[in-house]
Amino acid sequence: MNTAKVIGSIHSEEAARLRALARYEIMDSPPDGSFDRITAICARMFDMPIALVTLVDHDRIWFKSRYGLDAAQIDREPGLCASAILSPDIYVVNDAKFDPRTLANPLVSGSMGLRFYAAAPLTTSDGFGLGTLCVIDQRPRSFSAAEQQTLQDLAAVVMDEMELRIAALRSITREAEREREFVAIVGHELRNPLNNLHLSLSVAQEELEAQPEHPSQRWLTKATTYARGLSTLLSELLDVARADQGQMNLKLAPLDLQQLMEELVEQVCLQNPLHSITISGSIRSSVMADPLRLEQVIMNLLTNAVKYAPESRTIQVVLSEDVDHVHVSVADEGVGIPQAQQALIFQRYYRSPGSDKNTQGLGVGLYIAANIITQHHGRIWVENGESKGAVFHFTLPRRPIRRAAP
Ligand code: ADP
Repeated sequence: MNTAKVIGSIHSEEAARLRALARYEIMDSPPDGSFDRITAICARMFDMPIALVTLVDHDRIWFKSRYGLDAAQIDREPGLCASAILSPDIYVVNDAKFDPRTLANPLVSGSMGLRFYAAAPLTTSDGFGLGTLCVIDQRPRSFSAAEQQTLQDLAAVVMDEMELRIAALRSITREAEREREFVAIVGHELRNPLNNLHLSLSVAQEELEAQPEHPSQRWLTKATTYARGLSTLLSELLDVARADQGQMNLKLAPLDLQQLMEELVEQVCLQNPLHSITISGSIRSSVMADPLRLEQVIMNLLTNAVKYAPESRTIQVVLSEDVDHVHVSVADEGVGIPQAQQALIFQRYYRSPGSDKNTQGLGVGLYIAANIITQHHGRIWVENGESKGAVFHFTLPRRPIRRAAP
């Protein structure tokens, strides 16, 4: 075989190994109790200052778990683990200063002062070495055959843990996909009969128009209200499915947010004569936004202020803008939202304890609102007002104002 061929096969072998590593979706994942327990056990059992679960990427060695070391990763050169994964057996360096494999390694000659190193490779069932479970000391050590066997067994436990972890991740993803498909299919199947129901009700309503005192009139009004409720529920469910997939399909156009706000406030005031809603401040610039989706966000905030703070008489809307953003806040005079729940209320299906018995809702309004705002590259959050009540805020990027040419 010529040299070029050998190098070529090394490259494709390494590419296959990196693909195997990618299968586990573990690189740069957050710390994980089970891996940390294994490195802690190694350090204690073998009396080592450092124990690591390492994974060898194309250019770096990343530590899935590190006991006794601050660094999160090191370059692949001069890392020792890159050599350790080349063989399926345990790799032991008793005194790195005198071992020809390591004596020139900067980890040995440099400030790290590494003297002892033992690594059991993390090998996949199809034979790829992904990294190691290794222990390190700054003094020369011996490592008995029994200790070597234990380290190898623990490396196999690390591998099992990686398999379990990816199996769990996959099953969660599959579950979420099935749920989304179910909602989307059921949603579309329900849409048609529901539209027909609305149509039939409005025909019946027209026919009864001439006889307002007819005994069926009352039932017809009720049926229309129920059908409307069902449509809202269905739209919410479909929106959740879309939001989950990040597919709100925004139709962006320049929008006068202040005008939209004024129209919607007027509409909510008409529907809720007991509440007064004031607008202060102003937004002169326009935003690039989907008007129907923004209407949905604003209506959700305004109707929530009415729904969850029925005792508040005044709801204050404040409009403002700075160089980059426009800013809208909606403040009510209700009980507010406990600090611990302020992030939770934007989650899917979350309803504060107690809201079930008093008000209707699926707990998805704010989840959808947050998705819409995020997809517009804006931000949404809530805080408690200075005296009482909740204050919801959202910002959106402002459209640049073109200056007239001088
Ligand atoms: P829904 O109204 O369908 O329950 P939302 O996502 O709109 O869902 O709201 C989630 C939860 O946030 C509500 O159940 C309620 O407990 C809380 N919440 C929303 N707005 C307010 C508000 N203005 N004041 C107090 N609590 C609120």
